[in-house]
Amino acid sequence: MTSTTDLYAKYLQCSGVSTDTRQITPGCLFVALKGPLFDANTFAAEALSKGARYVVVDDPAVVQPGGQYLLVADGLTALQDLARHHRQTLRIPVVGLTGSNGKTTTKELIASVLSQRYVTYATRGNFNNHIGVPLTVLAITEQYEMAVVEMGANHQREIALLSSICQPTHGLITNVGKAHLEGFGGIEGVRKGKGELYDFLAQSGGTLFVNASDPTLMDMQQERQGFGAMVPYLDPSDPTQPQLLEESPVAVYQTPEGQTIRTHMPGRYNFMNMAAALAIGQYFGVTAEEANHAVAGYNPTNNRSQVVARGTNTVLLDAYNANPSSMAAAITQFMQQPAERKMVILGDMYELGEESAAEHAALGKLIASGNFDTVILAGQDMKYALEYLPKAYYFPDKFSLHNWIADHPMQNTYILIKGSRGMGLESVVPFI
Ligand code: ATP
Ligand code: MG
Repeated sequence: MTSTTDLYAKYLQCSGVSTDTRQITPGCLFVALKGPLFDANTFAAEALSKGARYVVVDDPAVVQPGGQYLLVADGLTALQDLARHHRQTLRIPVVGLTGSNGKTTTKELIASVLSQRYVTYATRGNFNNHIGVPLTVLAITEQYEMAVVEMGANHQREIALLSSICQPTHGLITNVGKAHLEGFGGIEGVRKGKGELYDFLAQSGGTLFVNASDPTLMDMQQERQGFGAMVPYLDPSDPTQPQLLEESPVAVYQTPEGQTIRTHMPGRYNFMNMAAALAIGQYFGVTAEEANHAVAGYNPTNNRSQVVARGTNTVLLDAYNANPSSMAAAITQFMQQPAERKMVILGDMYELGEESAAEHAALGKLIASGNFDTVILAGQDMKYALEYLPKAYYFPDKFSLHNWIADHPMQNTYILIKGSRGMGLESVVPFI
């Protein structure tokens, strides 16, 4: 068996790490992982033929002579151990973040702000799980002065594991909400699971950034001791905080210096994400001017809170994902917007387990209080929302929804589109 130290010596000879034979780069270290439907041990030879320098395998049967096969007990554990070992050689601040909603957005905002001053590595895309976090850490090469690492979780102990790998010196929880209720075992479970980041920082004397307007997060940090420092932001009692002036169609805020900053993202919740980035920037010595410039220039992609014009209609495209808390945040904020005609097109929220029927029904009640001109619901579980919405249009799948939209052209309408990733509701936009 190959030890972590041996593996690390080999990693240092490589150009990078890959777990996907479709993304082999010359000279990389290929780590074979197993999933329910595949066993990458069987791709080891292919990885070498595509230019990998070494392959890490956990099936002795595939090993060939020549010294390029590194046998380990378990591929995934080896990858995680390798990343943990690499992290210990890095002497840079690592900002770790987790939370139910807004992680990627906040991560990208923080990275934009820190990049004004520092060579910053940030999690690519949504690489935030037990495989993505090790790969992220292994991609932090010597040239980087800072790193921002997103950690996602859908069950207990996951954030503890991911924290042990990326070893954040600084951290933030965006919020604790109703996401992945199924795996966490309810909202208390989510609080505990996300709290594992605070546990790590408390035990290692790390620094915490806390949204002081969020009582849950404030309680959670008060329950623990040992932090190096606690840096509050959006403290309601502090007049020198940025102030939100407008929420729609994009957030506009006033800086403590009195400047008005117009951004590219809608909503109060995105303003919170921005405030986190501004606080972290300030802490690390990025000037206010640089930080505001970075926040104002940040343009979301991948259907996260995008504002899209379609003829005379405006679409608030938030189809990247949905769970009860992000859905409620988006709808409540949409309710408050002035518009001639308003329409919501909402899809199922996934991964709610036995709470799904009740959560969709609760959503129906919330939508009903919004007095929207048109309510369109799509997906199997959205039928539970209909109880409160006698006039809603309901489609069990999105294809019947496409047809209906194509047959009912609209004008001067402000439209919110949101649903779980699996619903892929961005496909509706071309029909508007
Ligand atoms: P994932 O779990 O898929 O990685 P994430 O936590 O990275 O999600 P984002 O991708 O940043 O979250 O945003 C997903 C959606 O969550 C957004 O489109 C928006 O609707 C909502 N959202 C973003 N920020 C917040 C926030 N601070 N509070 C509540 N909802 C938010
Ligand atoms: Mg994310």
